[in-house]
Amino acid sequence: MSSPAPGILSFEAARRLVEQHALNVSAPEVETVDLLQGQGRVLAEEILADRDFPPFPRATRDGYAVRAADLAELPAQLRVIGELKAGDSPGVSPVARGQAVEIMTGAPLPPGADAVVMVEHTSRAGHAVEVRRSLSVGENFVPRGAEAQAGQRLLDRGRRLDHAAIAIAASVGKHHVRVYRMPRIAVLSTGDEVVEIEATPGPAQIRNSNSYSLAAQIHHAGGEPVRLPIAPDQPQPLRALIEEGFHCDLLLLTGGVSMGKYDLVEQVLAKLNAEFYFTGAEIQPGRPIVFGSCGAGALARVSEATSPSTRERTPAPPRTYFFGLPGNPISTMVTFELFARPMIETLSGMIPHPLIFLRARLKSEIRTKTGLKRFLPALLSGEFENAEVELARWQGSGDLAAQSRANCYVVIPPDRERIEAGEWVSLLVP
Ligand code: AMP
Ligand code: MG
Repeated sequence: MSSPAPGILSFEAARRLVEQHALNVSAPEVETVDLLQGQGRVLAEEILADRDFPPFPRATRDGYAVRAADLAELPAQLRVIGELKAGDSPGVSPVARGQAVEIMTGAPLPPGADAVVMVEHTSRAGHAVEVRRSLSVGENFVPRGAEAQAGQRLLDRGRRLDHAAIAIAASVGKHHVRVYRMPRIAVLSTGDEVVEIEATPGPAQIRNSNSYSLAAQIHHAGGEPVRLPIAPDQPQPLRALIEEGFHCDLLLLTGGVSMGKYDLVEQVLAKLNAEFYFTGAEIQPGRPIVFGSCGAGALARVSEATSPSTRERTPAPPRTYFFGLPGNPISTMVTFELFARPMIETLSGMIPHPLIFLRARLKSEIRTKTGLKRFLPALLSGEFENAEVELARWQGSGDLAAQSRANCYVVIPPDRERIEAGEWVSLLVP
């Protein structure tokens, strides 16, 4: 049997390869939704300023609209000729020398005025106001169009609609937005010992938590999870489910990619003429991760040879990528974040996020073996400049309980055997 081209890459090389392949996937279809239904979705249109922002010179303080030149000598006595509150039109009679207009935050600056003095620096008596502070021209108001000019692009296509982007869309009156369809991501957990979470597991059985953690991570990355039934460690049913998975935009498998006698995922994919880009990465947890793709042509050829009746099935898309993620629950989570996420982001029309590493001081010494880049569950605590991090005590990459006490991963370079307490370390915060 043809076995997959072996290739164990460094973390960086593997990640770069995924990012390059992610550029090949085409943008999904577009649909129009109500603004709030678009929350978390990816914009398929640019959002432009429909007018100047702000649309009028807007006071940013409560006080008096004045001419700065009138405050050359202090205290200055000015005559109050009117009042402007938010929503008022500024009127046309300009503020002349020696005059002021009482003004509230959000109101338009009246013509003639070139600054706003805060009410705290004034005393009022009838129509007179005494000002005790001098001002520069332009203080305490935002000129018309200073934030954005009419027609200027405020949001790019490919931008995820988070709360700030929704605020911008709302501010330009976009009550409907064009967003990309969410890519459908097939999730296929494998393993004879794995049972659905509704079932009562036998003494040696494990509940299928991976399909659920992956579904949550897929949602967060902008995809729609499609959970397939659990595949046993047997070639035929595994193959049938893999073929089903290839009708989605991406297939994520968990388990069955290690060196065990019943780890069949790579063999079955090889029989489907899959192309493998790597079959491992020098990381821990997650070393056995597999990345590849399967072409529709290849799938059709294989099914013709095996069963002519399958020819009429809906054709799969031209080339579908897959990741074979290791089955240990923490390995599954980490490898999703490191490798599957950028692919899902581009499939959803998004410009993928680079990995962002934070830095914190290590609370207690770490000793490891060299050779692998490690992403170990850890607890970041303390605030501001006192932030410090320590490894979560764990029983290895199956320890979900340890993971639940962690809030980040400490990243240990492959050449470090020992990191002292107090050293700065990199963190990945998913
Ligand atoms: P494997 O990668 O198939 O060798 O599995 C490694 C470990 O992960 C084994 O202890 C499995 O029982 C566990 N495991 C595999 N699949 C799942 C799953 N879907 N949910 C939870 N644990 C799993
Ligand atoms: Mg297994």
